[in-house]
Amino acid sequence: MSDILRLITARDPNEKEFHQAVGEVIESVQPVLDRIIPEYRQNAILERITEPERVLLFRVPWQDDQGQMHVNRGYRIEMNSALGPYNGGLRFHPSVTLSILKFLSFEQVFNNALTTLPMGGGMGGSDFEPKGKSDNEVMRFCQSFMSELFRHIGPDTDVSSGDIGVGAREIGYLFGMYKRLRNEFTGVLTGKSLGWGGSLIRPEATGYGCVYFASEMLSTMNDSIEEKTCLISGAGNAAQYTAEKVIELGGKVVTLSDSTGYIYDEEGIDKDKLEYVKMIKNIRRGRIKDYLDKYSETVYTEADTTLDYNPLWNHKADCAFPCATQNEINEKDARNLANNGVKLVCEAANMPCTPEAVDIFLNNKILYAPGKAANAGGVAVSGLEMSQNSMRLSWPKKEVDSRLKIIMKNIHKTCLEAASEYGQPGNYVSGANIAGFLKVVNAMQDQGLV
Ligand code: NDP
Repeated sequence: MSDILRLITARDPNEKEFHQAVGEVIESVQPVLDRIIPEYRQNAILERITEPERVLLFRVPWQDDQGQMHVNRGYRIEMNSALGPYNGGLRFHPSVTLSILKFLSFEQVFNNALTTLPMGGGMGGSDFEPKGKSDNEVMRFCQSFMSELFRHIGPDTDVSSGDIGVGAREIGYLFGMYKRLRNEFTGVLTGKSLGWGGSLIRPEATGYGCVYFASEMLSTMNDSIEEKTCLISGAGNAAQYTAEKVIELGGKVVTLSDSTGYIYDEEGIDKDKLEYVKMIKNIRRGRIKDYLDKYSETVYTEADTTLDYNPLWNHKADCAFPCATQNEINEKDARNLANNGVKLVCEAANMPCTPEAVDIFLNNKILYAPGKAANAGGVAVSGLEMSQNSMRLSWPKKEVDSRLKIIMKNIHKTCLEAASEYGQPGNYVSGANIAGFLKVVNAMQDQGLV
C-alpha cells in the first residue's frame, strides 16, 4: 500500500469507495511519481490532491404530503479548483454517503481536466430517495436542499448538474429556489430545460460521448459499433442515450436494467422500443419490467442479491456499457464477459468495475475505458452550457454535438498519448489517470501552497 493510501485510510477508515478511487489513480500515476517524486513530496501534492478543499454537510428538513416531517443529509464536496470553478453532479439516492461523494468528486477532478475546459471538480447530493415521492414532495425537498446550498455556490464558484436521481425535474426545482434566494438568473446549474437556459445535447451528452469514445477505441482496431451486440445496464439518463447512439450507429442493444431487474430482448431494443423505455422511466416514472407490457416476448430477470454475479453480464455480446452505478461489475461478471466474447467495455457510469474486474479486462486484452475518460461528455457539455449562459446564447444542436464529438476524440487521443509516453501503450486507465493528474498537478504547482 502506498504512503498516501495508508494516510487516508488511517484518517477515514470507513471511506472504502474513496480509498478505491484514490488507490486506482495512485497506482496508475506511479510512473509519473517515479520521475518527479522529490518535488511532489516537498509540495505535499498527493496529500493536497486527496483532501477536499471544502466539505459542506447540512441538514435538509422537508415535509411529506401527509404532513410528516423528515430530515435528510445534504452534502457538497468542493474537491479541487485548480483548473476552474468546482463543477460536478448532484446525486439523490439512499446509498449516498460522504465516502461515495468524495470518490465521485475525486474522479470528477480528473474527468473535468480531460475535457480541457476550465473546470475544477466537485460533487454533492443527499441520501434522499426521489423514487416513489410525489412531485410536490420532491419540490419541497429540493427547495429545502437549495435553501442551504445557495450560500456556497455560484456560476464562478461552484456549478452543479444531474446524476443519479437528479434529472430535469429536480434541476428545475433547485434552480427555481436558487433564483428566488439570490435574485439572479445565472448558470449555477446545468442540465436546465431548453426553454430557460439549457443546452441542446446536455441530456444526451454522457451517453452519446461514451459511444463516441467507444467508436474511437474500436477504430484503433479498424472496427466500429456497427452490428455489434451491446449489453447496457441502467435505464436512466446515461443508459438511455448510450443506447440511442449505439442504435443510431447500427449496433444492437439487448439489455437494460434498473435496481429491480433487467430485460433481455434478443431481437434488439430498437428506436421505437427505446422511446417506450423513455416514456416508462422519464414520464411514468415506472420500472424497467413495464417494458413487457408492450413487448411481452422479452425475458425479464428479477434482481437477486443472493447471487455473487449479475446475470445481465452473462450473455453473448461484443460490447458492454455499464451505465448504472459504482462496482456493478465484479470479478465474476468480468470473467463472464470475457468468456462470452466481449471485446470492449466502456464505462458511462462512474467506477462501475471493481479493481479485480479491471485486471481481468486488461489481462484479456479487452478494450477497456474508465468512466473518467469515457463519460466526460456529460461534464463537457455542462461546460458548454455554462459558456452559452454567460454569453446569453444558444448554440444549435449540430454545433454542440460536433463540439462534443471533437472533445471525446481529443480525450481518446490524450489518453493514448499519455499511456504511451509512460510505457503503457493502449492502457486507457493509465492514460486517463496520468493525463488528468498532470494537468491538475501542474496547475496546483503554479498556484503555490493553497
Ligand atoms: P439515473 O438516476 O438517470 O439512472 C440510474 C440508473 O441506474 C437507474 O436505472 C437506476 O435504477 C440504476 N441504479 C442506480 N443505483 C443502482 C443500484 N445501486 N443498483 C442497481 N441499479 C442502480 O442516473 P444517471 O443515468 O444520470 O447516472 C448513472 C451513472 O452515470 C452514475 O454512475 C453517474 O455517476 C454516471 N454519470 C452520469 C452523468 C449524467 O450526466 N447524468 C454524467 C457522468 C456520469 P433505479 O431507478 O431502480 O434506482
